[in-house]
Amino acid sequence: MATLTISKEDEKRVKALGFLSNKGTDNFSGRVITVNGKLTAEQHVAIGEAAKKFGNGNVVYTTRLTVEVQGIPYEKIDEFRAYIEKAGLATGGTGSKVRPVVSCKGTTCQYGRIDTFDLSEKVHKAFYEGYRQVKLPHKFKIAVGGCPNNCVKPELNDVGIVGQLIPNFDEDACNGCKKCSVAKICPVDAAKVVDGILEIDKDLCNNCGRCVDNCHFDAIVDGTTGYKVYIGGRWGKKTAQGKTLSKIFTSEEEVLKVVEKVILLYREKGKTGERLAQTIERLGFEQVEAEVLSDDILGRKQEILDAKLHETGGATC
Ligand code: SF4
Ligand code: SF4
Ligand code: SF4
Repeated sequence: MATLTISKEDEKRVKALGFLSNKGTDNFSGRVITVNGKLTAEQHVAIGEAAKKFGNGNVVYTTRLTVEVQGIPYEKIDEFRAYIEKAGLATGGTGSKVRPVVSCKGTTCQYGRIDTFDLSEKVHKAFYEGYRQVKLPHKFKIAVGGCPNNCVKPELNDVGIVGQLIPNFDEDACNGCKKCSVAKICPVDAAKVVDGILEIDKDLCNNCGRCVDNCHFDAIVDGTTGYKVYIGGRWGKKTAQGKTLSKIFTSEEEVLKVVEKVILLYREKGKTGERLAQTIERLGFEQVEAEVLSDDILGRKQEILDAKLHETGGATC
């Protein structure tokens, strides 16, 4: 095996920049941030060229939509960063901080209820870029999904956002048909005709919106766009399923605000080394939910950001 010459301090320094040591070598994988998994053709080409120029030619996709270029020698790291910067790209994504955002392709998917690429880019700007210097107890992962099919596994993230289309049902227009097209199309059997009228079981309905515009008598002509939010999920050595906030939000502004409140609460109340799931377990979901649904914590934003907290967080990658 080759003799390793990079000091632990230098390894730590470049790790904070998004360069992860390739085990047993003096080379690194440079983690390129894709914002939400969407790159232009030019950016793809730039990453490929950079892999040939500075790395070992391999480009690997991570499970959370970043792109790593393998085999970059330590002394080429700065040049690599400068090269991809010309294509509007940057490395990063490590540490006890807000991590790169993951999004599904809800923008183009036939089931997508929200513009996931647009929303996840806003989340990226506000909380990946905007909170880059903010130290947290551990890593903090955010996912944006387009519909209740949950391809992006929102409930296994610290915060998971899911697009909704809440059907607006007009009882007066319903004829109680023997063969109800709405009941037929509902994938979770939430819609049924009972006593001559359609009933939607709110506990079963997941607001997928598939019934919207599917009644020939115009009993459901439209719906309200919404955002369901899970908090406290995690996946890894330990797992936890996020719990849903009781409110379905109906504007992007509200969703962005709630994400910020969860991050601030985690920074303020989380113990260094614990994931949000543990913070919620310790404080109780009801208390956490009450705090993130109220605006009190935003009044303490500057104080929370200025506090000297979590100087060394719990994240190891
Ligand atoms: S979660 Fe829904 S919108 Fe997103 S990719 Fe899956 S089916 Fe499409
Ligand atoms: S929702 Fe439409 S299709 Fe279903 S029972 Fe009512 S009128 Fe008939
Ligand atoms: S929104 Fe989806 S789950 Fe709810 S009633 Fe309509 S089809 Fe069924």
